[in-house]
Amino acid sequence: MSGTFYITTPIYYVNARPHLGHAYTTIVADVAARFHFMTGQETFLLTGTDEHGDKVVRAAKAENLSPRVYVDKISALFKALWPQLNIRYGAFIRTTDPAHILVVEQILKKIHAAGDIYFSEYEGLYCFGCERFYTERELVNGRCPDHETEPEVIRESNYFFKMSRYQDWLIDHITRNPDFIRPERYRNEVLSFLKEPLEDLCISRPKTRLEWGITLPFDPNYVTYVWFDALLNYVSALGYPDGDRYRKFWPKAQHIVAKDILKPHGIYWPIMLKAAGIPLYQHLNVHGYWNVDQSKMSKSLGNVVEPLELKNVYGLDAFRFFLMREMAFGLDAGFNEVSLINRINSDLANDLGNLFSRVLAMAHKYFDGVVPAMDPAVEKEFTLELEQDAAGTIAAYAGDMESFAFHKALATVWEFINRLNKYIDVTAPWELAKKKSSLKQLEAVIYNLLEGLRIISGLIYPIMPDTAETMHRHLGMEPDPDAFKLERLKKWKTIAAGQKLPKSVTLFPRIDPEKRQLAAQTDSDPAPIVVKPEISIEDFRKVDLRVATVIHAERLPRARKLLKIEIDLGEKRTIIAGIAESYAPEELAGKQIIIVANLKPAKIMGVLSNGMLIAASEKGKTAVATLDGKIAPGTPLN
Ligand SMILES: [Zn+2]
Repeated sequence: MSGTFYITTPIYYVNARPHLGHAYTTIVADVAARFHFMTGQETFLLTGTDEHGDKVVRAAKAENLSPRVYVDKISALFKALWPQLNIRYGAFIRTTDPAHILVVEQILKKIHAAGDIYFSEYEGLYCFGCERFYTERELVNGRCPDHETEPEVIRESNYFFKMSRYQDWLIDHITRNPDFIRPERYRNEVLSFLKEPLEDLCISRPKTRLEWGITLPFDPNYVTYVWFDALLNYVSALGYPDGDRYRKFWPKAQHIVAKDILKPHGIYWPIMLKAAGIPLYQHLNVHGYWNVDQSKMSKSLGNVVEPLELKNVYGLDAFRFFLMREMAFGLDAGFNEVSLINRINSDLANDLGNLFSRVLAMAHKYFDGVVPAMDPAVEKEFTLELEQDAAGTIAAYAGDMESFAFHKALATVWEFINRLNKYIDVTAPWELAKKKSSLKQLEAVIYNLLEGLRIISGLIYPIMPDTAETMHRHLGMEPDPDAFKLERLKKWKTIAAGQKLPKSVTLFPRIDPEKRQLAAQTDSDPAPIVVKPEISIEDFRKVDLRVATVIHAERLPRARKLLKIEIDLGEKRTIIAGIAESYAPEELAGKQIIIVANLKPAKIMGVLSNGMLIAASEKGKTAVATLDGKIAPGTPLN
């Protein structure tokens, strides 16, 4: 196959920090892009952030920041996360990018000129949380179904997009293209929405109520935001209307969304495209939710560990594998640490890891780590079914990957892994090794097993790119991403005989579920530094930093992590600090430390803590900041 493949994630709304749901959607996009690369296509992955609207203004206010500074900060968190998850995106779009704003203006003008946008007074029930009007029918017991708050009656003049005009056309399109929206349950859901008359879409807000949006090109008193802003990112990021990327990739566009934004992507967006004279996307791929089972998750400082942190504990590839294997794309799935450990132990350590170590150990033991040649005299007898099975596996896998059935594709790969394990049992290489007369047979068996592993390394590449490359290297292959392309994978007998194999490694160590804890964190890449917004020297001077000498420290009963510390600050004070896992109480006496002296006192475990010591924490280990030289207690630092 050749051609292009364009995949998008939704642009993530910056009113909250990235979480498991964002990570899952974006990993799916990366897996799909890597798979399409394997089919020989040129791929482009788009992600980014959605930065306009009331909720952003409110979130910024809550942190005492301007919307601009706030969106820069949260957008940077998203941007920094993706490389940590080994996601390779082609572009990261922000709806505050000037180039995006130009495209929004251009398309609004076009649709307005064509008569599909009109001005009208509207009175309706508005949910501030959702930033949208609700019809009575959509409310649950008179309340917003998402926020469970009563919407307010708002009357105002606004611009509306005539969606109703395109309703029949859309029904027809979805009916004729059964996989336009997939999996099927979501297609059916959209078709059932469309059985009711479609209401026109309010696309503006008066500037008196919201300024943080894109000014309408035909009315400076209004802004647009949400759909006419956000959805258009999918074309603006490619350089619509005449960019090379737009021409190359838009015809092959596919979107990935979670089911909460099915309606805008399955209804508003195709109608907007139609009205703007832009060809429709090819597929909308819709996934379900992760339900995090908090009772089966580790705790750190008393809080349930964020699912995303588990990538640092168990390794990124295992984390990606779990997400892709555990969830049937389209349905909801449960996320918890126990299932993650079970998957790692059974699928990764046992099935894949053992096969890999077993085969390489035999290659080292019987052939000194040199790839044996396969003699044509025994080739047919020892290979035929395996080669066919591999071809069948690749074909089934490709079909499932193509249609976003990742869990099925992986199940197919694991059948092949089991097939190879059985091949070892049936051919019993240890028996063949006993007699000189069966050397050729032994050579054929080991060679075929190495080939089988080569194919597996390729098939897991989209999901576990690092593991794929490690396996590949240990099969004596040169690093070459093209080696994972399906055309090359399919060719049996690709590994060159005579090739020296490096010493084997353990791909996935087994995890003892009893000992799971975050202290066992691996040396993953350090998180990128996101510096907080600038402050003035006056702001800094508000913090009263003082030198203090520790007089005495003791543990607090029933609080594993806390120490109660008496300090001399020119006056005597008590503070509570969460450093008991890194310091014994007696270590601290006499130390000169730095205290935030004017922090509002707080009661912690029944004790009033009056001030806070300065310390740095990394992966559960804490180091208290101390002074380099004796200074009188109470001396200010700034
Ligand atoms: Zn709401």
